[in-house]
Amino acid sequence: MVYEWDRLRVPKTLSEFQQKWARRNDPHCFSGVWRFHELLPFVPIEQCVTVGEGQTLLHPSQGVAEYTGMTPGRLYLQYEGMNPSGSFKDNGMSAAFSHARFVGATRAACASTGNTSASLALYCSVTRLMKAVIFIGSGKISYGKLSQALDYGALTVQINGDFDDAMARVKEVTQQLGIYLVNSVNPFRLEGQKTIMFRVLEALDWEVPDWIVVPGGNLGNSSAFGKAFHELRELGLIDRMPRLAVINATGASTLYELVEKRDIRWNQGSPDAAKVCRYYDAMDAEGRRASTIASAIEINRPVNFNKCIRALEWCDGVVREVTDQQILDAKAKVGAGGLGCEPASAASVAGTKLLVSEGVIEPDQRVVCILTGHQLKDPTATVSYHTTDQDQFNKVLGSRGVRRAAFANRAVGVPNNLDEIIKAIRLYS
Ligand SMILES: *Cc1c(COP(=O)(O)O)cnc(C)c1O
Repeated sequence: MVYEWDRLRVPKTLSEFQQKWARRNDPHCFSGVWRFHELLPFVPIEQCVTVGEGQTLLHPSQGVAEYTGMTPGRLYLQYEGMNPSGSFKDNGMSAAFSHARFVGATRAACASTGNTSASLALYCSVTRLMKAVIFIGSGKISYGKLSQALDYGALTVQINGDFDDAMARVKEVTQQLGIYLVNSVNPFRLEGQKTIMFRVLEALDWEVPDWIVVPGGNLGNSSAFGKAFHELRELGLIDRMPRLAVINATGASTLYELVEKRDIRWNQGSPDAAKVCRYYDAMDAEGRRASTIASAIEINRPVNFNKCIRALEWCDGVVREVTDQQILDAKAKVGAGGLGCEPASAASVAGTKLLVSEGVIEPDQRVVCILTGHQLKDPTATVSYHTTDQDQFNKVLGSRGVRRAAFANRAVGVPNNLDEIIKAIRLYS
């Protein structure tokens, strides 16, 4: 989406946005998305829908800095789990939902690994403006996310297949029935997700960090982040670009394979499509399917692939893959710092650790890791990691190639006896 900026009113400096803080009793000024309306002006502000999204925190984390090999004070966690539905998806949903209402939609649908559906269901139920129709694959969705869709009253359609199958079906269904599609193929979603970067800049007093590190699934975030910085640069509102690192799980590493192993580049808008097709054909022929504990990024064919490689070009980006073991260890370190996240989010921290060890990220650089979703989204993964029950561990994590839980905080089993309990507390504390 391209704006004709010279016909619009854009603030001369980013710090002008701070004035909106003084008007926080106006819901559009309170919203962490719509207080940047001038930078995503596709619907008039009075018609923009908000449920209070984007009240998120940029937190300098000492523990995670040490874990990743960064200098203390240089690593920040952008905690998007604080959104109303518990993930960054609300940023994009407020934008897509606003557009849906603007064009008169009465129903909206998505395919989802969980968080998009939780977000859509929440916007529909809070605003009562639309009915939500949600497509999920079988057995892939975590309970935290499924419970939200069901509780918020969305029509939830579970089909036999994985995310990519659900995605293909929802496209057909929405076309036939004229239902508004809010998946991240929807360009308005990405407009809303740009504001995550505006808030990062705001928290850094409008200074551009050296690196943004983000997990890569359907690549909506990475695409949106690149566009955000590109536009700010074009508008003269920032004077340099950050670098972008997109982190795949090894079990779902299409972007990594195509960019780092097969050298696919944006190439001025003409990436080597034939090579990409050959990759997907081989994937189908061999029956390879994405598989990772980080269910939110368990995706074979990322829908925003082209926009993402454009973002990588703009931001001199890199792509890495990290194992489920690395993801869960990083997640435990994030949790131990008190701002827990779901497995997919921790890919950004595991990726930072890897890039520091490679010397690509320097310890003194300023790094922002995006924590995309809340810790309570996937309690099964968390409890399995910390559990003393070997069967539970093997069933959930062992099947994913996770062998040990280096940072497990195990429950201490004690007989129901006061002396024994006191002895145990003395021993362990
Ligand atoms: C959707 C999601 C992702 C993947 O983001 P993309 O924009 O699709 O790359 C990562 N983490 C969480 C928690 C998500 O919900």
